[in-house]
Amino acid sequence: MLEVKDLYREYKPKKGEPVVALNHVSVKFPDKGLVFILGKSGSGKSTLLNVMGGLDKADGGDIIIKGKSSKNFKQGDFDSYRNTYLGFIFQEYNILDEFNVGQNIALAIELQGQKATSEEINRILEEVDLKGYGSRKTNELSGGQKQRVAIARALVKDPDIIFGDEPTGALDSKTGIQVFDTLKKLAEKKLVIVVSHDREFAELYGDRVIELADGKIISDIEKIKVAGERTSQGVTLIDQSVIKVDKDYELTDDDMAVIKKYLNEKKNQERLISLDDSVNAPFKRITRIDDFGNKESFKKTDEEAIVNKKEEFKSIKSRLSLRKCFRIGGSSLKTKPFRLVITILLAITAFGMFGLADTMGSYDKITSTTKSIMDLSGDSIALEKNYLYKYNKEDDYISSQKVYANDNDLSELKTKYGIDFKGVYRVGNNESVDFSNCFKTRDNYSVIYPSSASGLYVSNEAEVRSLGYNINGSYPINKNEIAITKIMYDSFKKNGYSNKNYGGVVDLAPADVSEDKIIGNSISIYIDGDQKYFTITGIIDTKFNMNRYQDLVAASTNTDLTSTIGNYMLQNQFQYDYKYGFHSLFFTNEETVLDYANDGVISNINVEYTIGDSNRNYSNYVGDISKTNHIVKYANGSSLDNNSVAVSAQLLRNLNYDGFNLYNINIDPVEVEQVIWEYKSEDEYEAKLSNTTISNIGEALQYLSDDYGLKELYEYKVEKGYTGTYNNLRNYYLDKLFTSYNTQLIFDSINSNIPNMSVTISSYYGNNNKFMDNASFKISAIVFDTRSMLYFNSDVVAPFSMSQGQYTFVIARGVNDESLIRKIVTDTYNDKEDNTIVFKIQNGVMPSYNSINSLIETLSQVFLYVGIGFAVFASLMLFNFITISISYKKREIGILRAVGARSKDVFNIFFAESFIIAMIAFTFAIVLTFVISMVINNSLINEYNLLITLLTPGIRQVLLVLAVSIGVAFISTFIPVYKIAMKRPIDAIRDR
Ligand code: ADP
Ligand code: MG
Repeated sequence: MLEVKDLYREYKPKKGEPVVALNHVSVKFPDKGLVFILGKSGSGKSTLLNVMGGLDKADGGDIIIKGKSSKNFKQGDFDSYRNTYLGFIFQEYNILDEFNVGQNIALAIELQGQKATSEEINRILEEVDLKGYGSRKTNELSGGQKQRVAIARALVKDPDIIFGDEPTGALDSKTGIQVFDTLKKLAEKKLVIVVSHDREFAELYGDRVIELADGKIISDIEKIKVAGERTSQGVTLIDQSVIKVDKDYELTDDDMAVIKKYLNEKKNQERLISLDDSVNAPFKRITRIDDFGNKESFKKTDEEAIVNKKEEFKSIKSRLSLRKCFRIGGSSLKTKPFRLVITILLAITAFGMFGLADTMGSYDKITSTTKSIMDLSGDSIALEKNYLYKYNKEDDYISSQKVYANDNDLSELKTKYGIDFKGVYRVGNNESVDFSNCFKTRDNYSVIYPSSASGLYVSNEAEVRSLGYNINGSYPINKNEIAITKIMYDSFKKNGYSNKNYGGVVDLAPADVSEDKIIGNSISIYIDGDQKYFTITGIIDTKFNMNRYQDLVAASTNTDLTSTIGNYMLQNQFQYDYKYGFHSLFFTNEETVLDYANDGVISNINVEYTIGDSNRNYSNYVGDISKTNHIVKYANGSSLDNNSVAVSAQLLRNLNYDGFNLYNINIDPVEVEQVIWEYKSEDEYEAKLSNTTISNIGEALQYLSDDYGLKELYEYKVEKGYTGTYNNLRNYYLDKLFTSYNTQLIFDSINSNIPNMSVTISSYYGNNNKFMDNASFKISAIVFDTRSMLYFNSDVVAPFSMSQGQYTFVIARGVNDESLIRKIVTDTYNDKEDNTIVFKIQNGVMPSYNSINSLIETLSQVFLYVGIGFAVFASLMLFNFITISISYKKREIGILRAVGARSKDVFNIFFAESFIIAMIAFTFAIVLTFVISMVINNSLINEYNLLITLLTPGIRQVLLVLAVSIGVAFISTFIPVYKIAMKRPIDAIRDR
């Protein structure tokens, strides 16, 4: 079964001479029987046993197990060999203190891939006289009990071979005898090899005694039995040296004669006769007589005679289930609780910071903006059309310019996002419509009381209701009727309402304002400089969520509003929230829109014009004369040809300042009214209406400007009962002046004084595209427009009016789908491509994002490194703890190996332990990351009113922290376990 050939083992201590511990030892063992290896201390006994068990490695020779040479064995093969065939019993017990008695024993079976039933454990415990000790802790046991646990552990897997290295060395003699008795019994079926230095025990119990000295076998004897010679019924003569008389046997005279004769024959030596039972045992020992009356004796061992059963070497690789590994690993966590808790806490903190830093580091404006929009918007979405361009092709920087959307865009958006957007008509050429001249007072200024609308929205009562809004009053169905929103009404409630500014009689103090009183009244607005009126037919509650802006409500002064960054940001948020919602719309109908929304102004172009040597003038828009709502006086007929330009009255007037003397251009004298202020007393003036005569264009244009007294005239006339608007009055006079004379003659005169106009128009977006380059135009018409601008006919503006839209932005309701909003936000932030159109989402949160995005993106770089720093720190913490605790367990690892566990199982056990630590750290770190993120987000919202979801920890952080913690657990387990596994198990056990 087991045979060693020519074993050689030499120790080379770091200091001193090499020691030959085994000097070419060869020995063959039988299948069963108790073999003692005897020798003085240092003779090489332990070395021989350890080498045979694979705990130590020979420098030469071979071990043959069941006919198989171990020459090519790797460590793992020896582990499996021990696992399958060997039970080891050590002098110093080597049981695992972290497990209780039962677990220590169970481990041996479990390593064989079997289940340890409690019956089996109990049976084996009974066998070693430890009944009921299964759940005892090992440190509560005496030395003898521990050794019996070790024996039980060796026995439980019913191995073919049991090795004992001075198993009784640490025991008192009585316990020692018990142990030997047990081993003797086992040796009936197994091969039991016991190292001892006690010759007496060796010869008494051993079937064979091999004696070592200086690493060599100096004697090898085996026990033989000499049968006695029965001389009568009750007397046996043994080996010519002992007379044995059976119990209860009466000696006869014949017997006495035989005995007498025998004793006389031994006259030359002392003859010992003992009848005392108490000395029976030593007597037995000295004489070595067994119960059958055979005398034991030794002879030189005849190894030739050893015939072993032919058996195949078949080892079982240890396999410890993961569950078992976790149970073992988990139970050993309890050993150093304080250090463990501190380590885990530090690791949690560091991993948490890592997760947090990575969350910041991976700040993704798209995710973050999407979340915030979901939080803020309710379900209305507004998009603004933007044109992206490089001013010069070689520029890196891409500019973004708001342009107006058209119906074509609506259908493209429908295709792209599946949303039915509707356009918000801009009013004239304005970005918003100011209605603040209908307020009675504006004492309590606050941003939350809007004074302008974003535009006109064409709808109807049914649609408004389907949007979920209620109307008080009725939906506007006639031309120039509108419905205002509830928040606009609140503005009147705050500021009062008055139409006296424009000739009305209603004058409501804030306290007197009620919805019923507002409905039916009108709103006056300026469209492209002209005053227009809308009649309010209803008030629509668009459910503006004012709760978010309580801080602004409370702020009563401008200083309040800008005193904190929070209020400042909140103001921005409010303004966008209002502006790009339904709250800022004048609800109206097609009829009204036709009149106001489409005045033919083409914007977003670069216009550059000069007349003669005059200064260069610049503008961003021109008008299409056929679409204007203003009065036009043509030089000739009722249209412009392709070489003619119409100028606004304001522009014509400006030419005066540009060096063109319009006072030369005569018209037939026209009498016009003017206000004359007469002095009466110190602070009392009386206005008198008087007439004056105007006889040239210069005077006429001057007279019709505000600064020349037209405003005073209007106000005076209103006081006296005039019911027209200011604009009506001006247009009346303009008309009168320009028709006083043959209009054509006026223009002839203008043309002879003022040379042709030279106009260059190029694309707004970069200087690459010129629609016209220094084209020459004759001034052939005047438009009664208070802006300084040019008008052309439709053909001339066609090349650059094509994509001009009417919608200041587009809006839709009922968009709740996060992934859809995410898509829109993604497109919003796509500003990388030259010469493209993007639709940018506009919402209360966008000002905040637009102002912080680049800052955070820069910071996030920093946080990325901070995060890596934390990850490294946390990793080192864990690594340190795990490697140190594993290296403390070197002995345990050696023992596990001795019992038969492969390095893989050892790794699994310790990895299970590290894994548990890592998972605890991971779990809490992730919770920490999420909680702190939430706290930071909430404090941004609560403290700074920033409705931005700055930190959005997600699956990335979970996976990262998980990967790092598992990785660390793996590496920090692998390295020390590998280092220890590379050692000879015996060195690990002896902690060398
Ligand atoms: P025994 O068990 O018979 O007392 P050992 O087999 O333990 O003897 O030791 C045999 C010899 O080898 C002794 O001289 C001992 O000092 C030496 N020896 C054993 N182990 C080592 C070791 N790890 N390093 C150096 N010398 C050793
Ligand atoms: Mg020894």
